[in-house]
Amino acid sequence: MTRLNYFRFAKNFTLNNFSFNHIYKPLNAQIELTLKCNAQCVFCSIWHPDFQKELQEEMKTDEVKKIIDDLHELGVQVVNFTGGEPTLRSDLPELISYVKSRGMMPTVASNGLSLYKWIKNGKFKDLELIMVSLDWPFPEKHDLYRGIHIFKQAVKGIRAAVLERKTVIISMVVTKENLQYMEEMSRLAKKLGAMIEMLPCENIIREQDTPHVVENITSFIPDLHKYAQEIRRLVKKYPNILTDTITADIIEAGGFGYQNMLHCVSARAFLVINYKGEVVFPCKIHPILRVNVKKKSLYDVYHSYEAKQIMDMKDGFPFCKGCRLGCAIAASIPTRWATLYEKYIRAFINGNLF
Ligand code: SF4
Ligand code: SF4
Repeated sequence: MTRLNYFRFAKNFTLNNFSFNHIYKPLNAQIELTLKCNAQCVFCSIWHPDFQKELQEEMKTDEVKKIIDDLHELGVQVVNFTGGEPTLRSDLPELISYVKSRGMMPTVASNGLSLYKWIKNGKFKDLELIMVSLDWPFPEKHDLYRGIHIFKQAVKGIRAAVLERKTVIISMVVTKENLQYMEEMSRLAKKLGAMIEMLPCENIIREQDTPHVVENITSFIPDLHKYAQEIRRLVKKYPNILTDTITADIIEAGGFGYQNMLHCVSARAFLVINYKGEVVFPCKIHPILRVNVKKKSLYDVYHSYEAKQIMDMKDGFPFCKGCRLGCAIAASIPTRWATLYEKYIRAFINGNLF
């Protein structure tokens, strides 16, 4: 079993906080295996034909493995495979096993359409943690938002994964319409034996050759105060909720780039490799530095002067104002003592930690 390597985590955390020479260490990484998807979510631009036609060649299996080796060299402990929909890559099981063989923890974020099949076929045997999208407690509503019939398959897959003793985190995109069902979703997750992460819909512009915007995206964004209040109320009642009150506070305050207690440090703490094999800094939303690491050493790029300049800016870029990217918040929390205490130690005491 590959659990989090707490020694490696502690070493990276200490270096990030106390190194006078600013020796940075990334804690987690995300590899975007593909930007193809078999869903058509209303709040996402990836599946649109205009977006798809701009896609370039995806990384090959050996190229991904080379990057996994580099991530190991950098001291990363968790490697999350995302997309698009990562189960559209037939080499996903091989890559999961490869991450595990390097002593890191593999995780997958999926829309859940093929989850049941993959679990039953044993393709996820080396996977311990999977994030599955589920936004509604009602099948017809979830299917409407995801653009395909998927609810029943996702739930069937979650049940099968839990039976195989995998940790399942339901990932709920909170919108104006389903905000009122956050409690029902927490109950459903509990009934299924899963954890749940609830984050509000984001106004993200994915940069390809041209920016792709979901036209009516703001109509989906919930009232952020009500969202934060709901998180603060529900975490006390449901130990299976992973979204913490610090995340809720940051979101309620309008995101990064303000006088928050926390600054975004995703450039140094959270490495993102896109489907073409480029590492992007400071983040996937605003990749002002992209370097293809299919052949180049990721270690050298991470420690380069250019990357360091960007890391030192934290959330000081004009585009950071109001950013509330969930993965950037999650990556920034374990880099500060106060927030680390709040998210991990208090959450452990309260039971909101897996
Ligand atoms: S499942 Fe994810 S990547 Fe696919 S369309 Fe929906 S939000 Fe986009
Ligand atoms: S605050 Fe947002 S936009 Fe700025 S670096 Fe972090 S994730 Fe990127």
